[in-house]
Order: sequence, then structure tokens, then C-alpha cells
Amino acid sequence: MTTLSQGPTAIEELGDWQRAVRDQFPIITGHPDLAYLDSAATAQKPQAVLDAVQTYLTTANANAGRGSYPWANRTTALVEQTRDRIRRFLDDPAPQRSAVHFTSGATEGLRTIARDWLPGLLTHGDEIVVPAADHQANIEPWQEAQQQLARQGVHVRVRPMPYQQASGDYDHTALARLAGPRTRLVAATHVHHVYGGNMNIHRIREAVGPDAVICLDAAQSVGHLPVSVADLDVDFGVFSGHKAMALPGTGAVWARQARGPAFTPGGWSGTPNTVGIVSLAAALDWLDGVGTDRIERWTVALASRLTDGLRRLDSYEVLGCQTSLAVDSPVQRRQGIVTFRHRDIGSGDLGFILFSHGFMVRCDHHCQGAGGEDGESVRVSLHVYNTVAEIDRLLAVLATLG
Ligand code: PMP
Repeated sequence: MTTLSQGPTAIEELGDWQRAVRDQFPIITGHPDLAYLDSAATAQKPQAVLDAVQTYLTTANANAGRGSYPWANRTTALVEQTRDRIRRFLDDPAPQRSAVHFTSGATEGLRTIARDWLPGLLTHGDEIVVPAADHQANIEPWQEAQQQLARQGVHVRVRPMPYQQASGDYDHTALARLAGPRTRLVAATHVHHVYGGNMNIHRIREAVGPDAVICLDAAQSVGHLPVSVADLDVDFGVFSGHKAMALPGTGAVWARQARGPAFTPGGWSGTPNTVGIVSLAAALDWLDGVGTDRIERWTVALASRLTDGLRRLDSYEVLGCQTSLAVDSPVQRRQGIVTFRHRDIGSGDLGFILFSHGFMVRCDHHCQGAGGEDGESVRVSLHVYNTVAEIDRLLAVLATLG
């Protein structure tokens, strides 16, 4: 694969930076014989996040929105400040108008939009487009909403988002053909959790026109690359905090509040996950500090190295995204996720063999919706703490398996 840029590669340019960043992850430096290659499932936490949690729990832990003593006030302020932090992180074009709702993760975020907000948007005969080859968290909630509406006599159509296996992106031409005036919402994924494709969201907007709502599942992009909801022109942005280096049980829905009814998730939801929210603010600060643009260049470069290496091994098939894989390519289609299969060795067995060499990867169906089911495969998902040496060792082990 040719390198398009004339200057130093991302790996050469960012090597010293990456070493210093990697040193900030105690679980990584504490286990030099292991390689964590499952960051699409959850990301490891830098020391800054661990410190923020420790500081909060030892200096200000209280409930939020209740009580008027200093710890309670501090907790309330931290929760509110984190909403603004999220707005800034996502490049919110109109922060005074948007809403930020905390959830336990992307799944709960998507479910909340589909259950609490979508029924107010749709009337009999409307259509929504759902990405049937993506994560089931971005499919089931929409189907459930359709069933819920049908019980009330409102029949809406759910159409599968056309997808192209070879390019690893949605088929925008087919989307433009199927979209019409009754297409009210398109649920899309920013980075595919199996194929690693960075989906072209601009082309979705072009295909469906200015009035349709776009709900973006950014679970695999937030924390991995710069995400600008202003640039992407989406109405919802949903992500999981734990994949963005915060604690598990955190996530958020960002809602622009421009197309359709206002997003006001219903009812009293009790005590928020204050510690998680504190960790999320710390994680976003940390990510902005190191730079999501550099994280993206690093993980894209590692993924390219792995993909190129796998292509040289006859026994392996790389799934999805068969184009634009050059290191530093201006079209960085594939992000830091590479999924593959061995011709003869089952993916479960391959995972077992890889762990015996210290590699932690995911080997199953990856929670993919039935519309894109490829069977079992091995997924390597990268983050800023992964190294060239890990990729080269992995390729060396894979090469010994024929
Ligand atoms: N969407 C995508 C694209 C994902 O990869 C995942 C998690 N693998 C989810 C949604 C669900 O995230 P969570 O489990 O944190 O709710």
C-alpha cells in the first residue's frame, strides 16, 4: 500500500508523543506482557481520570440537585459543568439551545430518544431509516418504537439503511433513492463497530435533505477522533462515556433541538451517576489535552499497518472497508478497528490462541444487527495506548498460523 504524504509518517511523527501518553495508563504499563486490543468494547482509563474520581470521592461526594451545603453544591455544579463540557467537546453550534441528558451509555441514550422523543415526531405513514448492519443498540430501540406506535394505531415504516460491504460505508445513492418527503429520521453510526468505517455523514444529509432528523451513534468515534456535531449537521449525538475513557455506566445524549419537537426525556430519574459524570468531565478534558486529532492519526496508522499485514497473509480475510487504507491517506475511511477471519481456524479458537500470546481481542458476532451478520470473526480495536510493536507481534503470531 502506498503512502500518499511526502513527510514523515504518523508513526514516525507521533512516536515520542504516544510513548508519553501511553505511560499515563497504569493498567497498560502495569502489564507489559499483555496487549489490550478491545477498546471498542471499553477503553482503559488514564491516571487523570482515576485521580479525578479519587479527588471527588474524598473531597466532595454528595448527591446532586439536593441539599445546600458545600459538598452538595459542588456536586450539583460538577454535573451542570459536565453538560457544558460535553457541548464544547462535541462542537455544539448553539449551546444555549441544546440539551444534554446523561445516560448509562449509548444503548440507553438511543433507547431514550426512540421511546421518549420519536413518537412526538412521527405520524401515520411516516418513515424512518435504521442501520440494519450496525450495532443492535442502534436498531432495536427504533423497531420497538415502531411496535409501540402501531399499538396506538400509528403505522410507520422502518427501512434498512443501504450499506456497501466493499467500501465499508452506507450506500448514499441508494439512500437518496429510498428517501422521500415522509422520511423523518435517519439513524446512523459514525464509526462502524465491526468494519471500522468512518461513515460519511455529510452524504447522508445530502441524500435525505435539510428537514430529516439525523441521529448519530457516536459510540465508536467520541474519544477516537474529533467529532463536530456542527460540521456533521446532526440533530442527536449519542455516546458511551466508558468507551471515551470515563467510568462504566456513563454516557450522554446531546440534542440540538432544531428539527422536530423538543427533547425532554421524561420524568424524575433519581440520583445521577455523579462519580461517573465527574469521570466523564475528566476524560473529556484529558482527551482534548492530548488531542483527538492525534489519537485519530495514531490509531488509523496502526490499523493500516495491521490491515496491510493481514492482506499479505493468504489465510486471512479482512471484513468491510476494502478501499482507502493508505497510511495518512486524506480519505481516512478506516478508523482503529480491524476485523478478520482465518480460512480454517474458527474465530473462537483464534481468540484463544491469541490470548495465549497475551493479546486481548474480541471474537464473536460483535452485537451486530441481523442485516449485516457475517458470522463470527476476530476484532482488533485500537486506542492511543496501543503500539507498533503490538501490531507487529500480533502479525507475527498470526503468520505462524498458516
Ligand atoms: N453503538 C455502537 C456503535 C457500539 O459499538 C456500542 C458498544 N459496542 C453501542 C452502541 C452500545 O454501547 P453501550 O454498551 O456502552 O451502551
